Amino acid sequence: MLDWQDDLKLAESNVYLDSRRGRSLCFVSHAHTDHLGPHEHAICTPATEALARRRTELQRVTALNYCTEFFLDDRTEAMLLPAGHILGSAMLHVRREQSMLYTGDFRLRGCEIVSPAQVRQADVLVMESTYGLPFFRFPPRGQIIAELLELVERAFSAGRQPIVMGYSLGKSQEIVKILTDGGHRVTVHGAVFHNNQVYGELGVQLGSYRRYASEDFHGASALDMRERGVLVAPPQVARSPFVTRFNNPCRIIMTGWALLKNSIYRFGVDHALPLSDHADFDELMELIERVQPRKIFTHHGYREFAETLRRKGLDATCAKKDPQLTLFGE
Ligand SMILES: [Zn+2]
Repeated sequence: MLDWQDDLKLAESNVYLDSRRGRSLCFVSHAHTDHLGPHEHAICTPATEALARRRTELQRVTALNYCTEFFLDDRTEAMLLPAGHILGSAMLHVRREQSMLYTGDFRLRGCEIVSPAQVRQADVLVMESTYGLPFFRFPPRGQIIAELLELVERAFSAGRQPIVMGYSLGKSQEIVKILTDGGHRVTVHGAVFHNNQVYGELGVQLGSYRRYASEDFHGASALDMRERGVLVAPPQVARSPFVTRFNNPCRIIMTGWALLKNSIYRFGVDHALPLSDHADFDELMELIERVQPRKIFTHHGYREFAETLRRKGLDATCAKKDPQLTLFGE
């Protein structure tokens, strides 16, 4: 659902935006693989560089802090702004005769780890629309966290191993922090462990966690369930022996897609909670309200979103229809 190969590019420049193919110059909004390619020269934040280098080859990187003005070329001033999505995520604000704001994935509300997106006015807004249907409205974060902690507590009381699943980069670190803040011991799957380590190196305190080792959970030397604590793993393991070898585990997934009908069957879990690192429908609309653009392009998400905006009288186009679309100007 999130897998679309776009090739957005600034017009009259060689600057690509979040291309998945290797480019001579590309702005990388964050280190999720659907926004990342083996570029000759990447522009991103220092945290995105650290996380991205674990996933792809980047020959040269210009790492820039948020809110620092720089020149993309002699007529294009630019600045990276916090996107509130995962550690290091940035939006690109560009100024020529007109201004443009490009969001990779973003979240206006932020979380325990990343601060909320920082928005600037722009004439042209290029925005993600992952949750671009009015149906996607997430409940307050505090409510979802309380629900998670209650489910975990109930699982322990019933002698069931709680396994909480979330994407290994970004979401899993939020889950680990929520659980350790909630006083739980945490064990993490190897894929989560590596990203946790990079977060730690970048100064993010996730609390105390241990790396999964089979003997801690299974066999004669298995630890007490409270001691090994909550297991945090990526969603791909839901139907794998990693999960199925437990006797009656309590499987919980944290994702915005939890709002879809039958999500527990789709993901093969017992509970699905709508904790997302993306903007929900109301935040997408709020972004437009705050940016006050004259023209909107949507990408990465429901193409119906552009239609919804047009019905509200806005000038909006889904960039997905034309992957070679160049922006800014024409
Ligand atoms: Zn992302």
